[in-house]
Amino acid sequence: MLEQILEKQQEFNQYLDSIDLSVLKEQYTRSELDNFSNQLYSLKTRSLAFEVKRLTDEMKKEEYPELLGVHHFPVLRQIDFLTEEQKIELDKFLVSYRKGNYVSGLWRITKKHGTVKEIEKFLLDKGVVEERHYAICPKCDQGYISSLLTPEQKQGIEKIITENESEERYEYLDTFLDHVCMECDRSTVPEEIETLNFKTVYKMVQERDTSLDNV
Ligand SMILES: [Zn+2]
Repeated sequence: MLEQILEKQQEFNQYLDSIDLSVLKEQYTRSELDNFSNQLYSLKTRSLAFEVKRLTDEMKKEEYPELLGVHHFPVLRQIDFLTEEQKIELDKFLVSYRKGNYVSGLWRITKKHGTVKEIEKFLLDKGVVEERHYAICPKCDQGYISSLLTPEQKQGIEKIITENESEERYEYLDTFLDHVCMECDRSTVPEEIETLNFKTVYKMVQERDTSLDNV
């Protein structure tokens, strides 16, 4: 049966290929051809390739019910503070981030700020993501005055800020901090910094499980 369908489709394709547009141009008026074009557009052509693909997708899910649940990041099954649907959403959501990308927009999974924080902590604890930090401008509390910092660099900065003022301190801070804020254009020199706030972002560091990709 499949062979027969293919054969008929090929036959029809050959017939289409044989149609010479220049002959149509000679034999018909523009309005006749316009009308013909509209008629062709209004014919509903069944897309068997699309329908069959959808069918095999359904068959695959019957064969591998795991595909309906969390399967890209199996570790998410351990979460006990989200519903099953939310875990599946999260699993799908994280697929769009490759290793090295920064994950943002977890509010799509839940609008609850506390739960977003819990998800971030879970992903961090399980080694799915790593933390990176920006130092926030003390002048406007909005812009960033550093490049992306590792947790160790952030700790180093926090430590040195609390220590006695010294040449070393300025040199160290100078390595990581930009003087001018992109948001407010004001400059902050290391000598003035008493405290710094940081904004945390999350970098994807785990590859997803691909074992069910090609089943
Ligand atoms: Zn600023």
